[in-house]
Amino acid sequence: MDYSNQNNGLTMLAVLAHPDDETFGMGGTLALYARRGVSVHLICATRGEVGEVEPHFLEGYQSIGELREDELRCAAEKLGLEGVYFLDYRDSGMEGSPDNEHPEALAAAPIDEVAAKVTDYIRKLRPQVVLTFDPIGGYRHPDHVAIHEATVRAFDAAGDAQVYPGEYPPFQPDKLYYHTFPRGWLTWVVRLMPLIGKDPRHFGQNGDIDLLELVGENFPVHARIDYGEVVRVKEAATACHASQGSMATSSGLMRWAFRLASGKDSFTRAYPPPDGRLKERDLFTGVNASS
Ligand SMILES: [Zn+2]
Repeated sequence: MDYSNQNNGLTMLAVLAHPDDETFGMGGTLALYARRGVSVHLICATRGEVGEVEPHFLEGYQSIGELREDELRCAAEKLGLEGVYFLDYRDSGMEGSPDNEHPEALAAAPIDEVAAKVTDYIRKLRPQVVLTFDPIGGYRHPDHVAIHEATVRAFDAAGDAQVYPGEYPPFQPDKLYYHTFPRGWLTWVVRLMPLIGKDPRHFGQNGDIDLLELVGENFPVHARIDYGEVVRVKEAATACHASQGSMATSSGLMRWAFRLASGKDSFTRAYPPPDGRLKERDLFTGVNASS
């Protein structure tokens, strides 16, 4: 992975759901490629309107969405992203919450409508590599699942002028990856939690993430990106999302478990379909910049 010259013609597009997804999930990878001169862009489908925020963070802001957009712009600058684009849907909240039914909720929007918007950006930005969540959105957040499905459709459609016709000419990206949490690591987290009095079935700020169930869903890891050289950059971007706390927890043991996982991001390669076992170290392997 040596893209020493800037303007190398390489472009990456991450398609995610909320401000902070770009940092807490694949932030290290985005920062790494930005540093290597790749033009890195982010679509964020919502402004995270349903996120929980302590009142003092809202001083000077009209709404949670406005605050979180600001946090995202701060993080994007730290990560070195070239562009951030909102699809202007509303955060749907976790599964079963009344926010799921809000008329502007991402999870309530027709998938084709969302996919057409993502397709437009793919044709406009012409990324060789597209990144999104895995099929269960990491931990079954309805917005993560919705944007995953829309992105898969958009990836398939962007090269075909007949599908979701728009103002830009068709463009087919080379590769599609899903960010995923390695299950071996997750298994350890699940084992450690009871030792510190935490219930792995009720993880997360709102206790609505069942880690035990997630361990059973396995997505193959085809690419591991070592972003060690930009760990500090990811930390700086994490600090931008102050209203969302950090993804790690107050407990030292859990922080240790998260640190074990940090430094590397894992991806499932959806396209081209891998031929047997694959251990990529660079998401642009096999990509021709002029394509
Ligand atoms: Zn999210």
